[in-house]
Amino acid sequence: MPLYTAEAIVLRTYKLGEADRIVVFLTRDRGKKRGVAKGARRARSPFVGALEPMTRARVAYFEKEQRELVSLNYAELLRSPLSAASPDGLSYVGYFADLIDQCAPDADPDERLFRLGSAVVEGLGAGAPPALLARYFEVWLLRFQGVYPSLSSCHSCGGALEQGGAYLSSPHRVFLCGRCQRVADAPDLSPAAVAFVKRVAALPPEQLADVSLSADVARELEWVHRALIVAHLEREPRSSRVLRELEAP
Ligand SMILES: [Zn+2]
Repeated sequence: MPLYTAEAIVLRTYKLGEADRIVVFLTRDRGKKRGVAKGARRARSPFVGALEPMTRARVAYFEKEQRELVSLNYAELLRSPLSAASPDGLSYVGYFADLIDQCAPDADPDERLFRLGSAVVEGLGAGAPPALLARYFEVWLLRFQGVYPSLSSCHSCGGALEQGGAYLSSPHRVFLCGRCQRVADAPDLSPAAVAFVKRVAALPPEQLADVSLSADVARELEWVHRALIVAHLEREPRSSRVLRELEAP
């Protein structure tokens, strides 16, 4: 039975029996795994403090062929989301973990997703505004899933979206200009929101400190991203509803 050690991000845990937990975690090199952490609910265990959602940890686990559950040996804390500089940030931790869990297929390595998860934990610790991190996270997560519609031009006429903003055409999940959408309403993404997405789509997370996000633009992005997430997952994640109540003005 081979023993693997890996850097991982804890996504969620469930109680198992009297003293154990099932842990869902994303490894850098071998994708998402589920494992049993024996004795994890005892006061003294090799997992203490390392199983909160979005904790970055070094883990060791045994894996048997044909078994879905691996057996966790230990989890050693590398970076805790509880070091978030703002108390608000903690409310977003469950949201990040939940969306990664729902988007990451089992045992399918995706180092980009791992790096994105690590980046938001680092960002929270460094005091980045959580709403800015959340919108950044959504842009990249949806791009990795291949479901962020192109903002380079109107899907229908090819016209620019920078000046008039972009309208999300919901049945086809594409962005249109105002002329093609044929409505007099304000665009779903204002020119400032279009510019934000284009900017962060080319930005490593360490440089997020240079980006600002107004409350109006944040609200537009939140709405459009939620619509894209719900369409992609075919339901609204519970963590998203929790966050919506939190972000409501
Ligand atoms: Zn158009």
